[in-house]
Amino acid sequence: MQQSTFADLGVSKPVVRALAERGIERPFAVQQLVVGDVLAGHDVLVESPTGSGKTLAFGIPLIDALKPAREARRRPGEPGALVLAPTRELASQIVEELDAIARARSLSVTAVYGGAGINPQIRAARRADVLVATPGRLVDLLDRRAVSLGEVDMLVLDEADRMLDMGFRPVVDKLVALTPEDRQTLLFSATLAGEVDRIAKAYTYEARRHAHKPKQELRGKVEHRFVKVTRERRMEQLVRELTESERGRTLVFVRTKRGADRLAKQLGRVETLTVAAMHGDKSQRQRERALAQFEAGRVDTLVATDVAARGIDVRDVTHVINFDAPGAAEDYVHRVGRTARAGADGIGITFVLEDQVRDVVAIGAGLGLHRELEAGGLPAGGRAASNAAGRGAGGGPANGGGNARRGRRGGRSRSRSGGAGRQPSQSR
Ligand code: ADP
Ligand code: MG
Repeated sequence: MQQSTFADLGVSKPVVRALAERGIERPFAVQQLVVGDVLAGHDVLVESPTGSGKTLAFGIPLIDALKPAREARRRPGEPGALVLAPTRELASQIVEELDAIARARSLSVTAVYGGAGINPQIRAARRADVLVATPGRLVDLLDRRAVSLGEVDMLVLDEADRMLDMGFRPVVDKLVALTPEDRQTLLFSATLAGEVDRIAKAYTYEARRHAHKPKQELRGKVEHRFVKVTRERRMEQLVRELTESERGRTLVFVRTKRGADRLAKQLGRVETLTVAAMHGDKSQRQRERALAQFEAGRVDTLVATDVAARGIDVRDVTHVINFDAPGAAEDYVHRVGRTARAGADGIGITFVLEDQVRDVVAIGAGLGLHRELEAGGLPAGGRAASNAAGRGAGGGPANGGGNARRGRRGGRSRSRSGGAGRQPSQSR
């Protein structure tokens, strides 16, 4: 896939800048597939694994396309965009991820979810341009007439498969029916099969379909291992991997800068290891020195964060160990891609804590590592172990210019009736 920037995809300067400030410079694959379509006004159905960057895939164009309340004549309590998400955690994560770019366009993003006091949420929701909600709590807000969905221009269903698994279908049908029929609808899911496909057809209009299956860049000579660990025994397991196996240079990945320093210090106490840490708070000189020592073999174990590791291209890295599981498929590819360069053999080991099983399985399955997951005693990710055929990224037709919504702009009918989601033909 060709390299492109967010600006190339049509994203506005303020949003590009806000992304860059957060270190987000290059669109992930799913974002490249989706952002242009959404900005052009198309409905989209997107199948993409966990950690592939779906939040920004819908968040960036949604925030960029949304008109400010005054311009769109929205009153308090009338959000212009609605994101439905299955859980409280996910809803807060989405707000966290979108807050900075929303502020760059003077828009407000708010989450409402159960298990927390409703009154502060009502106050915040009345000011929201983008409302992120779990279905149950949104019904509560509607019952209290705290919000109306009649001005929702853009509707996102995130983790649609999980919402269905959790039994939200009837509620979601009801909520969708309260939004205008000429809205733009974006549906994201780890799978577009079965019932997801049925709601997808019911909720969208001439949607472009994208299936993003990460390419098998990892195959070839890399061996992938997944190791279940507990938080208490994780350090011990790491020391065992580092001391008991025959290995050359090893990269150990952690999530945070502090975590990198702490781990390097702890490992430094093991007599047979020579260790350095590498992360964004180190000066350029410190980083260069650590890298030079690693290359010269005076340091055999480099503890690094994702960002710090981007530029590392050292020959003969035999082991990559994910002490902290990668947050995204792309991170996994980048990390483990540090080994087995130039045809050498390599091994990628991922430690998996109990609460990371779901995400790691999704990442591994998305990369076709079903057998390896299974070997590590993890669920193999639902799909057949022979998913290796790996359809490339892509799917929908090419991005034809123009605004897809113009066609349905004409009669801006407002369906406020309850009942099931609309049929595609109704949306004309
Ligand atoms: P998904 O919803 O597909 O599971 P997320 O949207 O939660 O994945 O993204 C996973 C991680 O990747 C998040 O930490 C996010 O900040 C990061 N991320 C997303 N897009 C980019 C990008 N273009 N560049 C760098 N990091 C990104
Ligand atoms: Mg997500």
